[in-house]
Amino acid sequence: MSLHEKSLRELSEDLHAKKISSVEVTQYFLDRIHQHDKTLNSFITVAAEHAIAQARAADARLAAGNAAALTGVPIAQKDIFCTQGIRTSCGSRMLDNFISPYDATVVAKLNQQGVVMLGKLNMDEFAMGSSNETSFYGPVKNPWNTECVPGGSSGGSAAAVAARLTPAATATDTGGSIRQPASLCGLTGLKPTYGRVSRYGMIAFASSLDQAGSITQNAEDAAMMLNAVAGFDPKDSTCVDRPVPDYTATLADSLKGLKIGLPKEYFGEGLDPKVGDVVHAAIDQYQQLGAELVEISLPNSGLSVPAYYVVAPAECSSNLSRFDGVRFGYRCKDPQDLEDLYKRSRGEGFGAEVKRRIMIGTYALSAGYYDAYYLKAQKVRQLISDDFKQAFAKVDVIMGPTSPSVAFKFGERSDDPISMYLSDIYTIAANLAGLPGMSIPAGFAHELPVGLQIIGNYFDEARLLNVAHQYQLNSDWHQQMPASFK
Ligand code: GLN
Repeated sequence: MSLHEKSLRELSEDLHAKKISSVEVTQYFLDRIHQHDKTLNSFITVAAEHAIAQARAADARLAAGNAAALTGVPIAQKDIFCTQGIRTSCGSRMLDNFISPYDATVVAKLNQQGVVMLGKLNMDEFAMGSSNETSFYGPVKNPWNTECVPGGSSGGSAAAVAARLTPAATATDTGGSIRQPASLCGLTGLKPTYGRVSRYGMIAFASSLDQAGSITQNAEDAAMMLNAVAGFDPKDSTCVDRPVPDYTATLADSLKGLKIGLPKEYFGEGLDPKVGDVVHAAIDQYQQLGAELVEISLPNSGLSVPAYYVVAPAECSSNLSRFDGVRFGYRCKDPQDLEDLYKRSRGEGFGAEVKRRIMIGTYALSAGYYDAYYLKAQKVRQLISDDFKQAFAKVDVIMGPTSPSVAFKFGERSDDPISMYLSDIYTIAANLAGLPGMSIPAGFAHELPVGLQIIGNYFDEARLLNVAHQYQLNSDWHQQMPASFK
């Protein structure tokens, strides 16, 4: 078995058993990136020297016998996480020249484990998008079909893991950016509960919705990643102080008696029937594993996209006001006065989608419109949370499709923001409510991967991972690899 066919857990076992060194594994993946990423464009920065230095330190730690579970395993970071001394661009011209002076907490925690970072992954600009077409560094290709998008905004994370240029990657999810690309690339994506993982050093898009997580080959690897990054952080006031269980400990639990809620709103109009068939087949398999299916309703589902596209732009218009050409990031040439500096630095530094969001958000927050849009959206958000609360009184998890379609072609939705926004119709509600969600590979439609979405109750990541793992013990969709990258 080649190294790139191995999961994070398998690589970690080989490293601990000294079957292979971290320098060897790291060099192997750096070579794969070199060989394949010209086609995919999944990396913005490859940190080869940094990675080899980290791998050497990991080998020393493994030799000394004080290694942690992930010591010496290589991963890659979405370029939204600040990495000390290494460019952190957030997919934007605005931060093309930004070298972070500190590490995000997620990065620091993985460093403490002795994890090796191969580089920084491409993404939609400031994580705004569902296709990775808004990146300043160009689109990322889907390894399953390079004429198709990998999904977004964590498109680089998904493409790199799908082509096995890295065994696993970090990612972030504000409205679906972990689950949707995981679905479109045939991978396991986990968005934890809001507050489970620190947002410190993760460049802010919409602070009340943003959450860090992972894109991996399987649920077992996602559990290992969450073990490493979850937990309280005094540097993030929205990070919740509550014990972190060992997420690998309950993976083997039986699903007998598990109650699965199927929201009727997730199987209606707009869903590609072939995608629906795959999702239904996966749900039938859960029934065979002992789960009970319960039809439920999330009556306010239809309001999630409109509510999100008020709340997220409102928060982004405030968060992105810090990019003013003064303190860091892009600055226009020869500004004539302060106003010219602001206008041109922002005008030249941001791309079209980011500007669209800043304008919508500024409008929604302006005096006279605040009550009509922002306040209204917040009230709708509460109704959406209440729908889930009622559902979770009856069921343990909720299942449905992650995305209404499989990966689409480049350009197909980029001129029509509304059709792009609808790519996240099934994922956004979990962010509005702050709930954890996963996407796992469930099969293929139109020769492209289809994801099953699993939404859990607050801080129920252990159950989500258990539910995902049990399916993966009984299926091999997660082991399939795109033909050109085998
Ligand atoms: N596609 C959604 C958006 O464009 C979600 C992005 C995300 O989760 N970061 O806002």
